[in-house]
Amino acid sequence: MSHSCSTIVFTCIDFRFQKSIHAWLESQHLIGDHDRVGIAGGVLNITTPADEHNRALLLKQIEIAHNLHHIQKVILINHEDCGAYGGKGACEGDEQEYAKHESELKQAGEYIKQTFPDLAIETYFATLNGVVEKVD
Ligand SMILES: [Zn+2]
Repeated sequence: MSHSCSTIVFTCIDFRFQKSIHAWLESQHLIGDHDRVGIAGGVLNITTPADEHNRALLLKQIEIAHNLHHIQKVILINHEDCGAYGGKGACEGDEQEYAKHESELKQAGEYIKQTFPDLAIETYFATLNGVVEKVD
């Protein structure tokens, strides 16, 4: 087996989403073809990290995946009712919650692009009903 893979995937640690995210990764033929990082809050650690070390830690994971495993893509997955964002209670409804994560994912992608302009960035939003949808 070659020591390379196509993608690094960032998700929140939230256990409620791991099964559907795994199934989605399988549907994308990414099982055995991605590096995986789980951190509470997902891209919040890039956009507005509570601890600046978290942002550096995440960028380091991309750097390692890039240099060691020759990845070409970064997949960022945020999710519904994320406690790090204050959960559903912090938003006025599903639309506002989605818009918040859409903005966060876009901002995180742009931030990563500054350091890794050659990597493709894809963003997704995982819902409590098991859907992982693309965010453009
Ligand atoms: Zn979360």
